[in-house]
Amino acid sequence: MSTLDERGLRVPGAVIELARTLQDAGFPTWCVGGAVRDALLGRALLDFDLATAATPAQVRRLFRRTIPVGIEFGTVGVLDRDGRMHEVTTFRHDVKTDGRHAVVEFGASLDEDLARRDFTINAIAFDPIARRLHDPFRGREDLLAGVVRAVGVAEERMREDRLRALRAIRFASRFGFEIERETWVAIEASAAHLTRLSPERVKQEIDKTLEQVDAPSVAFARWRDAGAFAAVVPALAQVPDGTLAAIDRLPRAVTPTRPLRRTLRLATLFSSLEGKEATRALRALRASNQEISVVGALVDGWQRFGTALEAHLVAGSLPSDPALRRIAADVGRLRVNALLRLGAAHWAGDTRIAPRLVRQLFRRLTHIAFHDPIEIADLAIDGDDLRQHGLRAGPALGRVLQHLRHLVIEDPSRNQREILLALAGEWIARGDAAPTSGAERASGHE
Ligand code: ATP
Ligand code: MG
Repeated sequence: MSTLDERGLRVPGAVIELARTLQDAGFPTWCVGGAVRDALLGRALLDFDLATAATPAQVRRLFRRTIPVGIEFGTVGVLDRDGRMHEVTTFRHDVKTDGRHAVVEFGASLDEDLARRDFTINAIAFDPIARRLHDPFRGREDLLAGVVRAVGVAEERMREDRLRALRAIRFASRFGFEIERETWVAIEASAAHLTRLSPERVKQEIDKTLEQVDAPSVAFARWRDAGAFAAVVPALAQVPDGTLAAIDRLPRAVTPTRPLRRTLRLATLFSSLEGKEATRALRALRASNQEISVVGALVDGWQRFGTALEAHLVAGSLPSDPALRRIAADVGRLRVNALLRLGAAHWAGDTRIAPRLVRQLFRRLTHIAFHDPIEIADLAIDGDDLRQHGLRAGPALGRVLQHLRHLVIEDPSRNQREILLALAGEWIARGDAAPTSGAERASGHE
């Protein structure tokens, strides 16, 4: 690792220009926050935030194109020549805190501004003109040692803003850092008070963790061990290590879009619960309906089919094709792949299961899901055909189609017009299409 000095610290030209304009006008201006930290860790192409002695009004007067992104907190967005926005925030200090929201006051010094930041590694400033670091809380030492440490008295800092407990865990897991002892004790003490955070905030931290952290299991084990889950997602209070480990092992998709990866990771986090429980927990976290439905369906599919699939894999075999068709029909063709990824993540940690067999299952089930008739729309006949053959319209029609679908799932060679019409005729003649037939109850959801 580098010595973490200013030599390797590269700041984009547009940010330097911005800082120069402010400094030339007499306002001390520094790069601050996550980008300084990440640049010292050797990361490139960062979005630097600037902190300045200029008030928001003064900032707006100095630049042609500005956006009031958070004026009440002192933040002005300044657009550079290429139309890129950079955040410029007036030095400030907290005058009042209530566990989440702070009342801030301008007219503070750089040191006061740094002192209100959460962790030493996030409280390093860099003057991009003089190329000088200012690091009053020795954040660089902690960066080198790999430690997340609260600025000042940990217990007080967490009391000011409970979100910091979750942020500490996220940063530590993201960089593979330890959490300094006092800071950890303060996180544990904060756990019971995390109920003060809005569900949206908690969900946002979960999402950021799923997006930013390579091995989220470490982060979520800390959530659990500190008591954070017990407070804010009680269903996960006892989430098993094996479930968490599976999140880290999720296979990458060929083109892993970020939302897909996050959804899969979220489903895996909840995969030790019943589908209904997962749905309830996500609803309490104000997840979007779309996310609740996808994750709920995956968790449900895993709960219902995971054990049976696993038993086969442990025995060294694959389920029969009809059994695989039933799974594909049940979870839905478009969700089979995600369900398999979730399964693969669990099975990768199971020494009884041959990876080769898991790959075979992937191929077989994917093929079946997309080639075999498993949905009503895949049938060789439709409602019109049945009507033409004298079946009256109405709910009975749907029941006949469901029945035919199940017959075809058991044996796809039946999926021919004449055969299906004959089978429908037989079934109707037996009177099985009556409303209370068992087939309807067994038909599952579409
Ligand atoms: P990321 O890469 O995740 O954006 P970051 O360090 O930039 O990491 P932000 O949430 O963007 O994190 O916040 C920017 C900076 O503002 C932090 O580095 C920290 O100095 C300060 N900060 C943010 N949230 C808090 C908080 N809750 N309490 C104290 N300081 C905070
Ligand atoms: Mg940031």
